Amino acid sequence: MAILVTGGAGFIGSHTVVELLNAGHEVVVLDNLCNSNPKSLERVKEITGKEVKFYEGDILDRDILQKIFRENDIESTIHFAGLKAVGESVHKPIEYYENNIAGTVTLVDEMRKAGIKNIIFSSSATVYGDPAEIPITENCPKGVCTNPYGWTKWMIEQILTDLQKADPEWNVVLLRYFNPIGAHPTGKMGENPNGIPNNLMPYITQVAIGKLEKLSIFGNDYDTPDGTCVRDYIHVMDLASGHVAALKKLAPGSGLSIYNLGTGIGYSVLDIVHNFEKANDMKLNYVMAPRRAGDVPQCYSDASKAERELGWKAKYGIFEMCRDSWNWQKSNPNGYED
Ligand code: NAD
Ligand code: UDP
Repeated sequence: MAILVTGGAGFIGSHTVVELLNAGHEVVVLDNLCNSNPKSLERVKEITGKEVKFYEGDILDRDILQKIFRENDIESTIHFAGLKAVGESVHKPIEYYENNIAGTVTLVDEMRKAGIKNIIFSSSATVYGDPAEIPITENCPKGVCTNPYGWTKWMIEQILTDLQKADPEWNVVLLRYFNPIGAHPTGKMGENPNGIPNNLMPYITQVAIGKLEKLSIFGNDYDTPDGTCVRDYIHVMDLASGHVAALKKLAPGSGLSIYNLGTGIGYSVLDIVHNFEKANDMKLNYVMAPRRAGDVPQCYSDASKAERELGWKAKYGIFEMCRDSWNWQKSNPNGYED
């Protein structure tokens, strides 16, 4: 029996494939490489010594999905494939709704035709909008998203919830990630953004390596301890092991399960800058800049449900997140292009 990992060549997917292989699972990856490099899967092999069966193709392509389900004994799908650039989604909403929503509908339709009714979906804390409570539990109502990317996560959660309600044979796990950073501790795998990064940590590492001149900190007048926004950063290896733990909620009769994957600790943008400087013994060039549209002041999880029900808890702290992000960047200045 194997696990289909859609988007398995990407940042979180590739780290999860490592943890799945280390846990003894057989893995099949489907990825159209629109935002990744197949070298990530070569690195998976270097790290684990194990093979991954790779199909280059699209979740919107029914033929390739049928071929995968015919050629492999798939028991469950971990579904990472999706477009994720918040700013781009504002300018290309149709592309985002088609790729993420129509893609997921196509995937689950072909899964059910093949009799496979177990899925773990990559959702996001963005579905909480400006959260009604802090720390955020899974009972916190979903909020109003500020961009089409967020709405795709919000709607796919709803689609999978409705599907499970209509057909209780489905087992669905919605994992709401907080802010994934870090990289594989070997420095062989990490985040490989196209162009100028939007997210904080890849921006910081590119300033550190001299590709970008300085970090702009978006807003220092929020109602937070130091005025900069607070987020729940989580090491990508912890996120990866969270998926392995979540597989147990795909046992027959599990139904629908929702978990936050975070550490439960909030760090401000300035905390991240200072921890990065300390962990890597360097100074970062940064300036204060106006607020960025759509940012909420604070977003961090109550991560206790995953600990209680999955026996999963984040192991890595902010030091390791900063150390491993930099280790990846300095060992691979051009990502997988080197
Ligand atoms: P990523 O872009 O590195 O990985 C996504 C992968 O999906 C890429 O390899 C891409 O080529 C592939 N893909 C995209 N559309 C596809 C399609 N139609 N068919 C086949 N493959 C396709 O992103 P990531 O950071 O690893 O994120 C993985 C998932 O987690 C995404 O769904 C993302 O929205 C979600 N997520 C990410 C974050 C984050 O901050 N990184 C936070 C919350 C949720
Ligand atoms: N941020 C920043 N400068 C940057 C990128 C991000 O100050 O160049 C801030 C951003 O305003 C937010 C935090 O860092 O408060 C995390 O942003 P990111 O885009 O990484 O994740 P988000 O929480 O928005 O998903």
